[in-house]
Amino acid sequence: MRQVYKTICPRYNLAMFKFCPSCSSGKINFADGKAFSCPDCGFLYFHNVAAANGCIISVPEENGERLMFLVRGKEPAKGKLDLPGGFVDAGEGVLEGLHRELKEELGWAPQVSPGASLAAIYKLFASFPNVYPYKGISYNTCDMFFCLSAPGLSEKDLVLERSENVSVCFLKPEEIDYDEVAFDSTRRAIKAYLLYRGLAYR
Ligand SMILES: [Zn+2]
Repeated sequence: MRQVYKTICPRYNLAMFKFCPSCSSGKINFADGKAFSCPDCGFLYFHNVAAANGCIISVPEENGERLMFLVRGKEPAKGKLDLPGGFVDAGEGVLEGLHRELKEELGWAPQVSPGASLAAIYKLFASFPNVYPYKGISYNTCDMFFCLSAPGLSEKDLVLERSENVSVCFLKPEEIDYDEVAFDSTRRAIKAYLLYRGLAYR
């Protein structure tokens, strides 16, 4: 996921917004932590939570499974392990957004038969709140984590979006070094997945 995470979600700090975009009043405020309001003209704008997704792709093996990780190609957390995923675009459902992100980042996505449901392919196993600070604005996100079983998937099936990720690796649960995982949210998601699957983690 192309995100910078923090484990704690503070209230937004959007003090850079000083004027009402409707009437230019300087009395605009963000007092309740959810919406901008203007006492002069009644302008009201909700700064809503953004939806985001991440995916654990599991490749079953004879004695267990391997999980797919991307190796980040740029800062923050360059060289660290990450999961495919990203923000849900306007007009998309979270499953469609995830399916699109896999195609973009991996050059691969699971086959979906005509009329089949994406919900039958991607299983939601965890969701965490997060904060994505970008250029001085904190976007609160609702991250949804899905898992997918992809028997036989290997590196040769993928065409990585190299501007984002330099390589891919498939790790057994016991091989995961959590210090090498890029973001807290991803660490939480991996542990939640292993719990969901009844697998131990270090
Ligand atoms: Zn106003």
